[in-house]
Amino acid sequence: MSSSLATVAYIGATILFILSLGGLSNPETARRGNLFGMLGMAIAVLATVLGPRVTLDGVGYIVGALVVGGAIGLVAAKKVQMTQMPELVALMHSLVGLAACLVGFASYVDTSTKLQGAEKVIHEVEVYVGILIGAVTFSGSIVAFGKLSGKIGGKPLLLPARHGLNLVALLVVIWFGREFVMAPSVDAGMTPLLVMTVIALLFGIHMVMAIGGADMPVVVSMLNSYSGWAAAATGFMLSNDLLIVTGALVGSSGAILSYIMCRAMNRNFFSVIAGGFGGGAPAPKAAGGAAEPQGEVQPVSAAETAELLREAKSVIIVPGYGMAVAQAQHTVYEITKLLREKGVNVRFAIHPVAGRMPGHMNVLLAEAKVPYDIVLEMDEINEDFPDADVSMVIGANDIVNPAAQDDPASPIAGMPVLEVWKARTSIVMKRSMASGYAGVDNPLFYKDNNRMLFGDAKKMLDEVLGALKA
Ligand code: NDP
Repeated sequence: MSSSLATVAYIGATILFILSLGGLSNPETARRGNLFGMLGMAIAVLATVLGPRVTLDGVGYIVGALVVGGAIGLVAAKKVQMTQMPELVALMHSLVGLAACLVGFASYVDTSTKLQGAEKVIHEVEVYVGILIGAVTFSGSIVAFGKLSGKIGGKPLLLPARHGLNLVALLVVIWFGREFVMAPSVDAGMTPLLVMTVIALLFGIHMVMAIGGADMPVVVSMLNSYSGWAAAATGFMLSNDLLIVTGALVGSSGAILSYIMCRAMNRNFFSVIAGGFGGGAPAPKAAGGAAEPQGEVQPVSAAETAELLREAKSVIIVPGYGMAVAQAQHTVYEITKLLREKGVNVRFAIHPVAGRMPGHMNVLLAEAKVPYDIVLEMDEINEDFPDADVSMVIGANDIVNPAAQDDPASPIAGMPVLEVWKARTSIVMKRSMASGYAGVDNPLFYKDNNRMLFGDAKKMLDEVLGALKA
C-alpha cells in the first residue's frame, strides 16, 4: 500500500473513531457507535500492516501477535461475567501503559535512525514522557484491578506526608529528565530512565492505593484517560499520526468523563487525586464521626411487594450493583412490562456511579430491552420521588444513602444520592444488612416507610413476578 493511500485510510479511520465516540454518547446510537469503532480499528490495523512502514519480514510477526492477542481477547471477553467487566477494563488499561513503556525503551535503544540536535532532544523527551505516563497507567491500573475485584481492600492507604512524597517524586523525575536528555550515550541515559520508571511505577501504586472506595469511579475513568495519553505518547515515539489522534481522543474523552463523574459525586478533581474520600467504616459518633443508624428494619415478603406494586400508580425502580451480580435485569423488565400493561407508570432512576463502571446500569437495562424513554438520569428524576407510590431499590446501597445528605460526618457526605425515601413506600431488595462498596452504614433501611425484601435479587424478583401474575 502506498504511503498516500495509507494516509487516506488513517483519515477514514479517524473519522470513524470520532463517529464512534459520538454514537456512544447515547444508548439508542451506541450499537452503531460500536460498529463504527470496530470498522475504524479494522481499517487502522490493515493500513498499518500493509502500509509502507512494515516490511514483508515484519508482517509475519504482526500476524502472529494478532492471532495470539486476538485469541486471548476473545476467550477473555467470552468468559468474563458482566460484573467483572470493570476489572477487565482496568486490566486492559494496564496493557496500554505497559505497551507505552516497552515501545519507549525499544525506541530509545534503537539507534538505526541517527537523530541530531533538536530532533534528538524532542525524541528523547517523547520517550521520557511516554514511559512516565505508561508506567503510571500500568501500575495504577493493576491496583485498580485489585480494588475492583476485591483482591485489595477499598480502604484508602494514607501514608504520612503523602503530598510531600509525591512532590519529591515529581522533582526527582524532572531532575532525572534533565540528566536523561543530557546523557552522552544510550548506556548513560539508561540509568536515569530506569530510575524514573521505578518512581513512576511506585507513584501509580501510591496514587490509586490512596483513593477511597467512593472515589473509585473517578479513578476508573481517569485511568481510561491516562491510557489514551499513553497511546498518544506511543504514537509520538513511533511517528504514527493515527495513534496520536486515537490516543488524544481516548485521553480527552476520558478526562471529560472524569470531570462528569466528579460533578456527579460533588467532588473536586484535585481532592480525588489527593485521595482519602469514602474510606472505610465511619468513626463512632462520640468521636465526632458518622451516626450509627438506629431503629428496626421492617422485612417484607415477595407477595407483599407484589401487592404494593399492584396498587401503585407510579413506581420508580433504582438498579444498583446487586442487580448486575444477580443478573436480574430480564426479570426486572418482565415486571416492568406487566405493570405497564396494568397502567402503572414505571420509570428507572440511574445514578451516575451505580454499579462498578460508568454506564453499567444503562448497558444492563438496554440488554434486557427496557425502553430508553423510561430510563432517566438522577437529575431528571430525583424531584419526582415525592410523587411516587413505590420506589424499588434493586441491589443498590451507596447511591440511595440519606447519610450523604443528613450526616456531615459521613464518609460520603455531600455525594448526591437518589432520594428514594421520599416515595410513599420504599422497598430495598438485597441479601443482608451488609454495606455497599464505600463500606458505609445506610440509615435508609431503618426509615418508617422503608421495607426490606431480603434475598438474591433474581430469586426475589422471580417470586414477585410470580405473585403479580397469580
Ligand atoms: P453498592 O456497592 O453500594 O451496593 C450494592 C448492594 O448490592 C450491596 O449492598 C449488596 O448487599 C447488594 N447485592 C449484592 N449482590 C446481590 C444479589 N445477588 N442480590 C441482591 N443484592 C445484592 O452499589 P451501588 O450501585 O449502590 O453503588 C455503587 C458503588 O460502587 C458506589 O460506592 C460507587 O462509588 C462505587 N463504584 C462505582 C463505579 C462506577 O464507575 N459506577 C466504579 C467503582 C466503584 P448484600 O450483600 O446485603 O446483598
